[in-house]
Amino acid sequence: MNPTTMPSIQLVSASAGAMEVREAPVPKIKPDEVLIEVRAAAVCGSDLHLYQWDESIRPKLLRASDNFKHGVIAGHEFCGHVVEIGSEVGTIMDDPDVKLSVGDFVSAESHVVCGKCYQCLSGEKHVCVNDKIIGFDRDGAWARYIALPSSCIWKNDAELPFEIAAVQEPLGNAMHAAAHFPLKDQRVVIYGLGPIGMFSAIIALMHGAKQVITVEISETRARIAKEIGCDSVILGKIARTPEERAAERARIQALVREAAGHDGPDVALEMSGHPDAITNAVKSVRRGGKVVAFGLTKDSAYTFDDYSKDVIFNGVTIQGIIGRRIYDTWYKVRDLVRLPEAREKLRKVITEVLPYTEFRGGIEKMLKGEAGKVVLTF
Ligand SMILES: [Zn+2]
Ligand SMILES: [Zn+2]
Repeated sequence: MNPTTMPSIQLVSASAGAMEVREAPVPKIKPDEVLIEVRAAAVCGSDLHLYQWDESIRPKLLRASDNFKHGVIAGHEFCGHVVEIGSEVGTIMDDPDVKLSVGDFVSAESHVVCGKCYQCLSGEKHVCVNDKIIGFDRDGAWARYIALPSSCIWKNDAELPFEIAAVQEPLGNAMHAAAHFPLKDQRVVIYGLGPIGMFSAIIALMHGAKQVITVEISETRARIAKEIGCDSVILGKIARTPEERAAERARIQALVREAAGHDGPDVALEMSGHPDAITNAVKSVRRGGKVVAFGLTKDSAYTFDDYSKDVIFNGVTIQGIIGRRIYDTWYKVRDLVRLPEAREKLRKVITEVLPYTEFRGGIEKMLKGEAGKVVLTF
């Protein structure tokens, strides 16, 4: 007999750290949905915001939980096996040739899009105006089962290792950001080596960048960057007063330019969201260089230091990146994770694989900057 309840990790009240393992009903699928038995699920930076009950995340959760009349199951990066397929399930992955069967190994795009708005209809589903995010707007994947519309299901190669299959969604973020501008033979600098920054470094290396320079404060992360093969790893210092910060910015910019040669890198990937790193990204690229803006600033604000000179006169392009292109980015990620060399590098970034009951320890380690990517098994 099929089970009627399942373990899940839920956010149970409007306060920091209020996440618990609780039994929940096994979801019932609608005709266009698929039921998946979760094998493994990863912890994302946004889950850390959720765990800490940050301002940035509150409105979404209060709405989804009906002001915590019920808990919300967290988690949106995962892989698992199909156990049930709804009667109206049709094309998946935008490819009519891909057929879904019970037992298939799958992952999912975390943005459930409407398919009806102007963006969806013009091939830009990743900026759908009605998107619902798994684990925030609806129950997520930190559970034994998850039900999802077939439109967001991605079929994995059956032999893909589960810990890598579970991180394809954030890897897709990194792919969308890092590969927005061509990387081949380019000199690339990456500011901030959280998991997405680290994945971006792997993508730049695998895509044939001439040089990959990274800037990071944590020594643990700087060490991982060396292990995956980055050409230069620059260790930043924590600066507090305005004078210290200005001196540290000047030091970092000089080191980055010196490492890149010429008048600076061709492409900067800003993955930290720290205002000083954003300034360094804009100022350290060469004239005509490109900046990818990905990291979110804490209070959502940023002020340019010298907008006219640094952006206009230097002819710099700045591109903001959100989500993944659906499904172009997923196909690029599939090509990447098929390469043994990429798998080897990804395993250096996935520092913990833990049973789901140990989620709290994994999250705390990430918050202290002592872990790379954490994967929970179900
Ligand atoms: Zn995520
Ligand atoms: Zn839409």
